[in-house]
Amino acid sequence: MPSPRVIAIQFDGLRADALSEERTPNLLAAAEQGAWFRNHRSTFPTSTRVCVSSLATGVYPEKHGLPGNSLFSRDLGETITTGRHENLLAWERAMGGRLLLRDTFFERVGGVIISAASSGSAWLWNAGRAACLIHPVAAYPAGEREKIKEHGEIPPAGEPDLDRCAWALDLALDYVIPKLAPAVLVVHLSEPDSTQHHQGAAGEVHREALEGVDRLFGAFRERFQAEHDDWAQTNLLLFSDHGVVTTAGMIDLEAELGDLPGRGESWQAAHSEGAALFYAESDKTLLELVSFLRTKEWAGPLFSKSGEGAEGALPGTMALELVGCGGPRAPDLLMGFQWGDGFLQGENREGALPGWGYSSANNKGSGGTHGSCSPYELRNFLIAQGPAFPAGIRVDAPTGNIDLAPTILSLMGEKVPGGLDGEVFTKMPRARGEERIYRVESKGFAQTLSRAEVDGRFYLNFARLEKA
Ligand SMILES: [Zn+2]
Repeated sequence: MPSPRVIAIQFDGLRADALSEERTPNLLAAAEQGAWFRNHRSTFPTSTRVCVSSLATGVYPEKHGLPGNSLFSRDLGETITTGRHENLLAWERAMGGRLLLRDTFFERVGGVIISAASSGSAWLWNAGRAACLIHPVAAYPAGEREKIKEHGEIPPAGEPDLDRCAWALDLALDYVIPKLAPAVLVVHLSEPDSTQHHQGAAGEVHREALEGVDRLFGAFRERFQAEHDDWAQTNLLLFSDHGVVTTAGMIDLEAELGDLPGRGESWQAAHSEGAALFYAESDKTLLELVSFLRTKEWAGPLFSKSGEGAEGALPGTMALELVGCGGPRAPDLLMGFQWGDGFLQGENREGALPGWGYSSANNKGSGGTHGSCSPYELRNFLIAQGPAFPAGIRVDAPTGNIDLAPTILSLMGEKVPGGLDGEVFTKMPRARGEERIYRVESKGFAQTLSRAEVDGRFYLNFARLEKA
């Protein structure tokens, strides 16, 4: 059986500045033998399922249509948590059978996905059902669940979640590559994100998760190369979907919003981790929400439908389009929770990464969060090793989640379709573009947004709300 042409491994939530010789020697060895993209960027909201949708389709949320990890469905008239695939199936049925608005790359090239993360993110990788999906509870076709049971018990989720990650990588070598022989294989590992939610990006357990997932990758690569004579023809794409910040406070948004009249009638809200989405017909209601949110220290950048230039239709907000979050399924108002640089007072700084942010109480733990638009959440990593990548190169030009799908299509010899937001990252040299700053001020508040712009594309650096 020939080896896959592409093996793409997602290390969930691994921040670019968490890579080091000490903690991630195997990832850095791959970087040494391949290309290390030093300015890689996530998509906003920096929530896993939103990011996975961009990774699989090559477009920002305004085109793929998944605006948040939690969202309000106008079709179902209810809030949906996208972490469970059953909820996505119900939403898909209510919308007439189209989960994402764009095809995933699997719809052109097929392949296999093995996921150790949530069933919702697994299902979104395979939104068009064009790949074989292997996940502890959400296999597609459904018969795959029985087949994988022959390869041993699926370990329960743990902390760190390394047994599940090992299961996913072992299954790739024991079953998927030899038996299913996919041309493209995606493996989604739940660490270090799973641990970061509980522990933040600091401390012993986080260190164990980071070092552990790197060690598992090293063992996978070693065994893959030992068992496959043609391993050198495989392109390994190693990346994360987003970063993380230390949680500054868990905000009970349900209680906070409880003081406002009309919830469930004239307006709706959905939130998880570092982002909150608001829906209302009337501008008056939305303006009241903006005024309310601005009194809260936990509220960060606000975005609404496009108005004049950088400003959204709601005065003092920025345009959703600037962050790639407009489109038919966009909320009327999108908020990233407030974030800041450096360390929190009293925070254990031993081995900790800087950057903090508030979180919705709708989060898996109180240690770390993501979803907002700090540079700490937006700077993820990308390393590529294989025949398409010269050894030892460092690429400073920006790349991002949106570039994965066009690159995989190109590596598979497919013509990259028009209308994608991303660009193939095998093309070198890659234009660096320039940083552009947008600013909107009103009534004692200022919002600043930084993007790298290159050849009509953009990559987000950060968006910040400052109170005068
Ligand atoms: Zn994630």
